[in-house]
Amino acid sequence: MSVTSDLASLLPGRVVTDPDVAAGYAVDAYPQAAPPASDDYTVVRARSRTDVEVTLRYAAEHGIPVVPQGSRTSTTGSAGALPGAIVLSTEQLTSIEIDPVERIAVVGPGVINTDLKAAAAEHGLAYPPDPASASMCSIGGNVATNAGGLCCVKYGVTADYVRGLEVVLPGGEVMRTGRRTAKGVAGLDLTGVFVGSEGTLGVVTEAVLRLVPLGDPPLTVLAVFPTLDATMAGVAALRGVRSTPSLVELLDGPSVDAVQAYGDYGFPSGSGGVLLVQSDRPGHAAEDVQEYAAALTAAGATEVAVAEDRAEADLLLEGRRVLNPALAARGPRFIEDVCVPVGRLGELVAQVHAIAARHGLEATCGGHAGDGNLHPCFFYDAEDPESLAAAQRAFDDLVRAAWALGGTLTGEHGVGAQKAPWLREELGEAELARQLAVKALFDPLGIMNPGRVYG
Ligand SMILES: Cc1cc2nc3c(=O)[nH]c(=O)nc-3n(C[C@H](O)[C@H](O)[C@H](O)COP(=O)(O)OP(=O)(O)OC[C@H]3O[C@@H](n4cnc5c(N)ncnc54)[C@H](O)[C@@H]3O)c2cc1C
Repeated sequence: MSVTSDLASLLPGRVVTDPDVAAGYAVDAYPQAAPPASDDYTVVRARSRTDVEVTLRYAAEHGIPVVPQGSRTSTTGSAGALPGAIVLSTEQLTSIEIDPVERIAVVGPGVINTDLKAAAAEHGLAYPPDPASASMCSIGGNVATNAGGLCCVKYGVTADYVRGLEVVLPGGEVMRTGRRTAKGVAGLDLTGVFVGSEGTLGVVTEAVLRLVPLGDPPLTVLAVFPTLDATMAGVAALRGVRSTPSLVELLDGPSVDAVQAYGDYGFPSGSGGVLLVQSDRPGHAAEDVQEYAAALTAAGATEVAVAEDRAEADLLLEGRRVLNPALAARGPRFIEDVCVPVGRLGELVAQVHAIAARHGLEATCGGHAGDGNLHPCFFYDAEDPESLAAAQRAFDDLVRAAWALGGTLTGEHGVGAQKAPWLREELGEAELARQLAVKALFDPLGIMNPGRVYG
């Protein structure tokens, strides 16, 4: 009996038997993914926690690797199929319960981020974490990667909203972490251990998430700068403003050009950089954006546009929203996710372009300037192995540059397969050993997402 037929008899209707459908579960959004053949892994689409328990019990009994999978938007190769593995999709676990008094949501891992936002908004509440992939990615994936996004500068990351989890461990044991209450300090924070664990410990089957009162619809300022230094002076100026913006996004000159090549979003060509800044402060967004505009002008912005209503605000942000498709249209690329102290962002952007020039490549650099987390891209010619190798070297150089600036190799996308070779160097031997000991406690057989994160 094969794994697929074994599981199909244990879980009728949950196992994908059509190879074309199975192929759709092979890769995530990691541009360099190399998927196994679709008959070399088994896809289980769980419809309940029991399905997850049965699958993980079977996997442990037979020593079969398991890849937990949400919406496959990971850019690091953390959710793609592995040879001989069970891909355990939680995309169909989509329950949402909102408790407006406790301001919590209890949700299944398959809930799409924007669906939770919409459900919370019906109660005047918000679930703030907003990865740029929010309309596609799942809460299970967000929890497992500790996803960030555009509004982290004011609201923080996924970890700041997870109060508790239900997790199925390899072998099928169901474990609950954390609490529903606003406070609680009983014992160690095992919720925090699972948040960001990238499917290497167990499968999240339910999350208790904190909600906050809904802000006002955000208003936007768009500021164009003549040079990179002036753009960075703009970022620094915003740090001196008392009411924290709900979004501070950077597009460097080449990113602006890539967006304009994709469509006319009203950006001037040849700029040194663009900053997009928002406020959603209830009752004060209009005055905040005027204050940001003044600060950005004083810092050297040559053009500043301030939205007066929601429609204008959305229009100004549109150029940032299309950044990912614009970059994808430009050609194959390595996507970085380094995070450095905000005060050193300018040095990071300069390094990106110096490294690209050294390796004969083109690069763009944009992202979440408000919290020092950028997504530099190195473009290569997929037909030319030397160009691909140069992009890989540039990628490696940038990780080192981020470390030298006091930063980390990943701010929000996670380690996955892409950055696993670098983890040992970032953590050091002793810390790595401690983390592997924690992993062994939950996954003694080493079957959860093997090769990802820890290599
Ligand atoms: C266009 C684009 C923009 C993006 N922008 C951002 C951004 O702004 N901020 C950001 O943080 N990320 C961003 N990402 C990356 C990605 O969207 C996030 O990492 C997201 O959290 C992944 O969610 P997912 O449902 O797609 O998970 P998947 O990609 O399916 O899985 C990601 C990881 O989570 C694990 N996992 C999934 N479900 C479970 C579960 N139920 N239990 C245990 N482990 C599980 C997987 O094993 C894998 O390790 C972007 C990606 C794209 C393509």
